[in-house]
Amino acid sequence: MKNATIGRASFEAIVAQAEREFPNECCGFIIGDGPTEEVRPITNIQNQKHAENPAAFSRDARTAFLMDPKEHLAVLNEIDRRKLKLLVVYHSHPDHDAYFSATDRAQACSFDPTEPDYPDTLYVVISVRGGKFARAAAFGWDAGTKEFAEIGLDVS
Ligand SMILES: [Zn+2]
Repeated sequence: MKNATIGRASFEAIVAQAEREFPNECCGFIIGDGPTEEVRPITNIQNQKHAENPAAFSRDARTAFLMDPKEHLAVLNEIDRRKLKLLVVYHSHPDHDAYFSATDRAQACSFDPTEPDYPDTLYVVISVRGGKFARAAAFGWDAGTKEFAEIGLDVS
């Protein structure tokens, strides 16, 4: 697969968010079309869910994210209204490497385990160690193997 590209301003915004929300995971979207790219940070409500129901939500926000559903829906509506694309779904891994975990895959394929909810969208994971950016990795859906594969990520 050919390398994916993210604009420098978008990349710097999501890295800053990942560092700011450390030691918790951050999450959000990059939306746009052509040269237009806009970052839409989403509130991670994992800690709230964990506090309300630790049996159902065993992890807290240090090792999991759950997007605020109202904010998530607002972004999808905005994409529809402005005829944009969902370019990137991103989240961070505090004090862990930038890999696509089994949980990440399950979350990305929430409707059907054999197909991501957004097959053309790039998934970006940002590793933050001790509150500082360590590495970012991008993953795309490979329709042949039906798995996510790491793709080279260019920031320009
Ligand atoms: Zn993850």
